[in-house]
Amino acid sequence: MPSISTSADTSQKTVIVIGAGVAGCCAAIQAARSSAKCILVEKNGINGGTLSLGGIACPGLFFAWGGRQVIGGIGWELVSETLTICGDAMPDFRRYNPNLFWHYQIPVNPVIFTALCDRKFRECGVEVHYHTMLAGVRRKDGRWEITLCGKDGLFRLEADALIDCTGDANAVRQARFPVSIPDECQPGTYSVHCSGYDPKQVNSEELRRAYLTAEAKGEIRPEDIGWGSSFSELFLQRRGENANHVNHINGGDSRGRTRMEMAGRESLLRTYCFLKKQPGFEHLQIRYAGLECGIRESRTIIGEESVTAEDYRTGKRWPEPVAQAFYPMDLHDAKKGIVKTDLPEGVVPTVPRGALIPRGSSGLLAAGRIISSDRMANSALRIQAVCMATGQAAGALAALSAAHHCEPKTLPYEILRKELQANHVIFP
Ligand SMILES: Cc1cc2nc3c(=O)[nH]c(=O)nc-3n(C[C@H](O)[C@H](O)[C@H](O)COP(=O)(O)OP(=O)(O)OC[C@H]3O[C@@H](n4cnc5c(N)ncnc54)[C@H](O)[C@@H]3O)c2cc1C
Repeated sequence: MPSISTSADTSQKTVIVIGAGVAGCCAAIQAARSSAKCILVEKNGINGGTLSLGGIACPGLFFAWGGRQVIGGIGWELVSETLTICGDAMPDFRRYNPNLFWHYQIPVNPVIFTALCDRKFRECGVEVHYHTMLAGVRRKDGRWEITLCGKDGLFRLEADALIDCTGDANAVRQARFPVSIPDECQPGTYSVHCSGYDPKQVNSEELRRAYLTAEAKGEIRPEDIGWGSSFSELFLQRRGENANHVNHINGGDSRGRTRMEMAGRESLLRTYCFLKKQPGFEHLQIRYAGLECGIRESRTIIGEESVTAEDYRTGKRWPEPVAQAFYPMDLHDAKKGIVKTDLPEGVVPTVPRGALIPRGSSGLLAAGRIISSDRMANSALRIQAVCMATGQAAGALAALSAAHHCEPKTLPYEILRKELQANHVIFP
């Protein structure tokens, strides 16, 4: 085995992060703070991913049983600074109640959150490429050659380490490492914010009858207005926020994604046209729409280690944890609705280093909702606070392993842990 230098090479190493969702933002900031030259590539003109484009701006969960903070670091820095700027209050984390788990998420203003991320990129010297899509990944002379597609066409960059934060394992797949794709992914959600009606004035019985007539005519479907398979008022109660399902999706590639976006907007059009005809909804308006359909699940990497539902539920003690996690397993099923499994009291699961490393790879990492895990475990690990934490861990691991001339899996764990602790990551 080649020896690993405990003193870092002082020549600056390059880390490329693909995807500027919450995982990618934290990965890029941490890689830069760990002294790498960091390049962040994002196909849209804004960071945040699902948080901004998908309209799901309520990161959870940073606090666990008895109000103990389990996720800190860059994710917490971004969320708490956003709240401070906006003058918004934190939820009360002191008494975690599993039946009300969503109360402990932290609503953030997505515009301020994304602007703050941009400011942090500037402050720590992350080179950002918006409007740029990953076009190819190739191993060349022990480094990565990345082909990108910008508005003026293709261009190439080289990196010592590459982090896939695409949410869909696009870089890992293009680098020809296997990924896991479920036969049927969880539904997506096209999140909007509606106004112009009073939910308290809605005559539920009348609306249900109108709905059943419209459904029989094919004008509306149960998944348009809720998460179940029959009439629901979820859409109305939530004013359209995270309240519908777009079923049978493949969010991993552009073709599947196009079908999904069009199906999501068609679903919204059906809902709007149906509601607008009902008494009390004459002034219905869509004030805000997620710019993309939110994806719960598309692909996960096959890692050096993988988190199973049992590992998650029992809080398995991994020898080299890189992050803690806290959320019930929460699988959305097109037929069964929500399949939820609470954590037993006191359990705080962890994420092992190997779940971020595609098996058999060199200089390659993954973070966010694509980390190696089975479907049930992933239904909890995909949550934004955990994505932020795995992003930060991947950023440190990429920068440090490049500086120490070793692989992400062989970097001495203590070096990684020390760096993460110095950057306010909370370990068990
Ligand atoms: C409907 C719904 C409700 C949810 N509710 C909650 C909740 O209440 N609380 C919570 O904490 N979490 C929630 N989640 C989960 C959470 O929002 C996501 O799992 C998480 O935000 C994923 O973050 P990510 O950074 O891994 O990926 P993403 O947010 O998907 O970010 C990936 C980024 O990569 C970019 N990208 C993708 N492919 C490429 C490419 N090939 N080239 C360049 N750029 C690329 C994308 O544009 C995007 O910006 C919800 C998710 C959904 C869909």
